[in-house]
Amino acid sequence: MRQVIVAGNWKMNASKEAVSTLVMGILSGMADVESKVVVCAPYPYLSQVEALITHSQLHLGAQDLNTNASGAFTGEVSANMVKDFGAEHVIVGHSERRSLYGETDEIVAEKVQVALDNGLTPLFCIGELLEERESGNTELVVSRQIQAVIDRVGIEAFKNIIVAYEPVWAIGTGVTATPQQAQDTHAFIRSMLAENDADIAQSTPILYGGSMNPTNAKELIGCEDIDGGLIGGASLKAEDFLQICKAG
Ligand code: PEP
Repeated sequence: MRQVIVAGNWKMNASKEAVSTLVMGILSGMADVESKVVVCAPYPYLSQVEALITHSQLHLGAQDLNTNASGAFTGEVSANMVKDFGAEHVIVGHSERRSLYGETDEIVAEKVQVALDNGLTPLFCIGELLEERESGNTELVVSRQIQAVIDRVGIEAFKNIIVAYEPVWAIGTGVTATPQQAQDTHAFIRSMLAENDADIAQSTPILYGGSMNPTNAKELIGCEDIDGGLIGGASLKAEDFLQICKAG
């Protein structure tokens, strides 16, 4: 039985006041949440969130990392640094990193490896563009993205990886994949993992991301191969995020 995981990706949306209000709001409604809940904060706010969530059920994540441990990489942040502020998870390969910052499958695979080497759990994002779906290439794209990581870290490493399937056309658009579309791709992802190791395929959490909200979360998370959600916009309102956390 896989535990439901709900992770919030705040992206570049925060201020000290907003973070305090949001985290306190989430904490106040966590008593009846059974899902594992992760909040992925922008780097400058990791320390603030770390302090706010001490002794709570909330887990902390970062949104990216640099593959180097330290050195002359102006503006970059390493795995050790985010761990220093209590992060246990890190988003890797988000479609915005792939499209806006040129992250290739190989770079993403290296980031997965560096996260794992440093004891961080990668939230490893994959997903197809609209034209790739419309041309019938969804499975080709997600299998290429997964294979790059398997080639780099091996299938055993998936014991410590959370996969997030995020169709790019559904991210931030208000257009959600139908439960059937999402389930079909999740089942494909799990079958691909199973070709490498059946037990690991069964235990690997595969989250859905892409305009998940309190209205559609229950039906999506209710699908056999959907183990939770990676939430963007709806993670910025405590009430909405909590409703998704309770949908599992
Ligand atoms: C995301 O950015 O990972 C995401 C799923 O965003 P949204 O929920 O806003 O579509």
